[in-house]
Amino acid sequence: MQRTVLKFGGTSVGDLDRIAHVADLVSWRASQGEKLAVIVSAMAGETNKLVGFARGAAGDNLSGPSFDDEYDVVVSSGEQVTSGLLALALRKRGLKARSWLGWQLAMKTSSAHGKARIMGFENSGLLDAVDGGEIAVIAGFQGVTDEGRVSTLGRGGSDTSAVAVAAALGAESCDIYTDVDGVYTTDPRIVPQARRLDKISYEEMLEMASLGAKVLQTRSVELAMNHQVRVRVLSSFAQPGEDNPGTYVCSEDEIVEKQIVNGVTYSRDEAKVTLYGVEDKPGVSARIFSMLADAGVNVDMIVQANARGPERANMVFTCTSADSENAEKLLLNSKADIGFESLSVSRDVAKVSVIGVGMKSHTGVAGTMFDALYRKGINIDVISTSEIKISVLIDAAYTELAVRALHTAFGLDAT
Ligand code: ASP
Ligand code: MG
Repeated sequence: MQRTVLKFGGTSVGDLDRIAHVADLVSWRASQGEKLAVIVSAMAGETNKLVGFARGAAGDNLSGPSFDDEYDVVVSSGEQVTSGLLALALRKRGLKARSWLGWQLAMKTSSAHGKARIMGFENSGLLDAVDGGEIAVIAGFQGVTDEGRVSTLGRGGSDTSAVAVAAALGAESCDIYTDVDGVYTTDPRIVPQARRLDKISYEEMLEMASLGAKVLQTRSVELAMNHQVRVRVLSSFAQPGEDNPGTYVCSEDEIVEKQIVNGVTYSRDEAKVTLYGVEDKPGVSARIFSMLADAGVNVDMIVQANARGPERANMVFTCTSADSENAEKLLLNSKADIGFESLSVSRDVAKVSVIGVGMKSHTGVAGTMFDALYRKGINIDVISTSEIKISVLIDAAYTELAVRALHTAFGLDAT
């Protein structure tokens, strides 16, 4: 029996016309003999509106545990609406369909409200319903805690709901319908010659997602990789039955022709924090970064260098612009305690990265990358690498130029 999971994001269910179109797509898939579970997001913009309501009702200083459980009750409601609406639209087309909310699936999550992690499913009759030919329309993004409270999975979390359902159902594929027709080598708005990839490995997609490509929630890719769920990203604007191959996110072994570099990503939401004259002795870095971690500041690149004499060093790290204000405040408040001379924060920086599993077995990627940037006169500020990616921090004004140059240098431009 072929079970398939389909997921539709916010723009795909943005109004009643779009929902009708989704119902046509789903109904066509059902007519092909597939047993379907369909995960939906809230209508585009709805979750932002609900977040605003929750903050408005709670007041500025109410956050944390005294706030987050009720925040989840409010913000999860957008998905309840779309799951009911799509079930109705499917019934209108003569199909057997019903909506499932997080608690009805028993999509059990941790109790970290606002960013809960899926623990697993309890037996809820979903499998029987799907195998019996009923289309299960599932509210994404939401779950239930052991305490029986509603939880949400973090922004963009309905992708993760979809992968979790696909894993639980042993689905053939988890088709993420969205407003783009696949995963591209880079942002086509910057590089018109960007190409849609037929396949991309989990590892590469994970890097792409966390480095700024906004197609899939990072957590959903992790989950797909752990459970070997084949994910496909495809267009929800296609007509039923129309050719719509999308991009498969799958294991590396499935990809025959491996490119050295498969993608170029960028993120302008970066800030660089420099601490000058940091005391050069054991325990100082630990103190700085534990403090930032405790405050929820997500630190990315870290460089400690330029030791000025034996006792002092400079330390550079990057984080999101939003986190940088908090980081700056915290560090300045504990200046004496940590032991540094001064601090500067620059927010006019961008991170540009090249990604490819081929890097594991090829040399010279860094040389090609730095040479391409040099030829455009772009100065590199900070560099960081992993097995399958190289990231550089540059002046934000050169972001587009850098992305274009790298896309060309690694032979990614469509002919
Ligand atoms: N509606 C939620 C959000 O906007 C979840 C999702 O769309 O994936 O973040
Ligand atoms: Mg999304």
